Amino acid sequence: MPGSWSVELVRVGAVLPSVLRDLREDLSRRLAHAVWISPREIDPAVAFDGRRQQYLATTLLQELLDIPIQEGVRRIGIAQVDLFLPVFTHVFGAAQLGGPTGIMSLHRLRPEFEGDRPDPVRTQQRVLKEVMHELGHTLGLVHCKVPWCAMGASRLPEQVDLKDAAFCEPCSLKIGVPSVGDQI
Ligand SMILES: [Zn+2]
Ligand SMILES: [Zn+2]
Repeated sequence: MPGSWSVELVRVGAVLPSVLRDLREDLSRRLAHAVWISPREIDPAVAFDGRRQQYLATTLLQELLDIPIQEGVRRIGIAQVDLFLPVFTHVFGAAQLGGPTGIMSLHRLRPEFEGDRPDPVRTQQRVLKEVMHELGHTLGLVHCKVPWCAMGASRLPEQVDLKDAAFCEPCSLKIGVPSVGDQI
């Protein structure tokens, strides 16, 4: 676990600035570590796979890594395109275990993706949980068996809804964030 770390959010393509602003606020409240929005942006076009009509997550992780990064910074890209890894039909996000970069996408987290009514509050909650999940990976956390922990693996948005936007106590201790009991 890195002793001192902070979180940098990077906009990847067409994502509403308000999504990043809300995320920055939610994360700073929960993590007690600095969170800021990068002035740099990434164009996801380089990661487009014409055959799958999706974007390769590892290419975007590499793009994020190509921007100089300071010691201790965990950089998470926020995208709205459909991400994949070769062995999966899709992923909500991906990250380097032990850092420093992660990526996640709103694409499949929006209720309208499954034909439901748009629900910005639910979308924001899901995005927060999945960003915390990828951030946890960059800080060395692996998938957690505690049912509500943000480090639980999710393939479906409904599974994301069952998680809390928080880490369980053992996960919290490993990365040095306040455990749920300490939160207001
Ligand atoms: Zn994961
Ligand atoms: Zn956990």
